[in-house]
Amino acid sequence: MRNDFVTLADIEAARARIAGDIVATPTVDSPSLSERLGVPVRLKLEHRQTTGSFKLRGASNAVALLPAGTRGVTAASTGNHGRALSLAAKRRGIAAVICMSRLVPENKLAEIRRLGAEARIVGASQDEAQVEAERLVADEGFAMVPPFDHPAVIAGQGTLGLEIVEQTPDVETVLIQVSGGGLAAGVAMAVKTLRPNARVIGISMARGAAMKASLDAGRPVEVEEKQTLADSLGGGVGLENRLTFAMCRDLLDDLILLSEDEIAAGIRHAYAEEREVVEGAGAVGIAALLAGKIRPTGPTVAVLSGKNIAMDLHRAVVCGEWRDRQERAA
Ligand SMILES: *Cc1c(COP(=O)(O)O)cnc(C)c1O
Repeated sequence: MRNDFVTLADIEAARARIAGDIVATPTVDSPSLSERLGVPVRLKLEHRQTTGSFKLRGASNAVALLPAGTRGVTAASTGNHGRALSLAAKRRGIAAVICMSRLVPENKLAEIRRLGAEARIVGASQDEAQVEAERLVADEGFAMVPPFDHPAVIAGQGTLGLEIVEQTPDVETVLIQVSGGGLAAGVAMAVKTLRPNARVIGISMARGAAMKASLDAGRPVEVEEKQTLADSLGGGVGLENRLTFAMCRDLLDDLILLSEDEIAAGIRHAYAEEREVVEGAGAVGIAALLAGKIRPTGPTVAVLSGKNIAMDLHRAVVCGEWRDRQERAA
């Protein structure tokens, strides 16, 4: 194992640091999935985390570790990381400027502002937003808190792994979503250090799976970003990736891909059988089990990672109307 990897000790320290900032979310049994798979299947309800995703863990840890007197924090993010960073900064009395392109819908801007941050609109692409975030760091003394490839962020996300092992001590298989790989890196490090025989299986959507393409190529590569129901799993791993690529390569037992229909079935199952509203990214563990793409042999935990889905889209998916829409749009 490379000696720059985030360790169990880093994750335990993160847990103590952010204990007052996050909710230790519950794990519950899924009777329907347990019956279907023939093994105990449990759901880690992390979509109930404050701000609606696990990203508050990493953001809170990173903000807590900033040097005293830091002027502010910034990131180019339209989604769950932006929300989490906004709240983490506000709680510590630090300014946050979340940079985004003018293509970002008004409701997302409103959410960032409601959490106390400035939503700064720059240009017509995420790349231009990223340039503005970098300018804030260079010219105005802001600290960049990236969404995944940062040791404090990975350690914070890893606290979810500690809870998985405590709440399901006999866990054999953990199903974890993978985009940039901060969540999977942290959770896999925690779970595999505490339970060396457990398997940790990553899941991405087939449309634009940057980590999968990178692992296959043996180095970080770019993939074309595509529209997907699992929008929180979109985006690349960064060609200059420092940590998450190597940690996912060394720690994940497998990385499987799902179609859009399979993800839709996961959202539908979460709602109809588990009575949980989850976003596409949050549903991929359930979806992989329903699709028969994972055959667990013992106690299995699927993480529901987020709930931030537009409710009209959610309604269309659970009513089975979503496929039609996609086809009309195509
Ligand atoms: C960010 C995110 C992920 C993926 O996390 P990475 O650390 O980028 O791999 C999964 N689910 C949700 C809901 C997210 O917001």
